Amino acid sequence: MLLGRFGVSVIIAAMTLTIAVDIGGTHIRAAAYEPNSTTPIAHHKTRSLADQPGVFDRLVEAVKQVWQDGQVTGIGIASPGPLDPHTGVILDTPNIPEWDNFPLAAKLTEQFGVPVHLDNDANMAGLGEWQYGAGQGHSDLVYLTISTGIGGGVISNNRLLQGYRGMGGELGHMLIDPNGPLCGCGKHGHIESFSSGPSIVRYFNEQLNAGQKSSLRSHPNLGTAQLAEAARKGDTLATSAFSRAGHYLGIAVANFLAIFDPSVLIFGGGVSQVGDLLFKPFEESLRKHVFHPHYMDDLVITKAALGDDAGLLGALALARMKSNEHA
Ligand SMILES: [Zn+2]
Repeated sequence: MLLGRFGVSVIIAAMTLTIAVDIGGTHIRAAAYEPNSTTPIAHHKTRSLADQPGVFDRLVEAVKQVWQDGQVTGIGIASPGPLDPHTGVILDTPNIPEWDNFPLAAKLTEQFGVPVHLDNDANMAGLGEWQYGAGQGHSDLVYLTISTGIGGGVISNNRLLQGYRGMGGELGHMLIDPNGPLCGCGKHGHIESFSSGPSIVRYFNEQLNAGQKSSLRSHPNLGTAQLAEAARKGDTLATSAFSRAGHYLGIAVANFLAIFDPSVLIFGGGVSQVGDLLFKPFEESLRKHVFHPHYMDDLVITKAALGDDAGLLGALALARMKSNEHA
């Protein structure tokens, strides 16, 4: 009897690892975590080569590199969307052309024999920041990543907002002006088309071509880091490109406050690093456009804390959350 109990407890104690995977545009990362830890006991990083065949095989290989036989309870994945987190199917992500209606979760479960849960990278970064980063202790959180696009994640009343179809929280495609610039998604006037990195540069180049003066020349590889440097040296046009992006971002976030009423706003992504150039005009615009000033009381506006690990740690949080739901 004692031996029997001992045997059972050994088996239970052995099944403790969670694997998290982050599928990015350039790299696939996989890591294995012990309970209550955010420091991986194994980590593997490989090139995604997203536009070339064999992405799934590279993903399986990355998971195998951190796999521990008999010890893994589940796998969580942060993947580019659009995808359906309820069914684990990637719909038609532009980043990985060969994944068209691709049943990623089912195929991985078939391969590894454990439950697999996934959601899009921005939702996972928001979940990661909530559980382990800048949003800890908050019940209502809006996360925005501003880089080549704009992605969003929402925690509402201590739950990740996924929606009926799993397509909730697509904050980058909040419509600001139907006659606005072309968005990365093919529609017009979404907040991404005003305030993402490429949108800021596009506006700057348009103004240059229209005859506005700047210390910088129009250049196809111009980035927001160069614009920020010029703005800090007093370049009026570069400064106004960030002011405009901040102005529209304030309008979008005024909408988000009215919908989600968060206690914390978290900004991640490379463009957020420019700081006051973007965020001073943003805050002015937000105060001007918000429906009621009470939304701003005790509102924490902060930078993301997890950096490149946000998606991976969000995937870890998702897998742990789902295994508790099913326990
Ligand atoms: Zn869009």
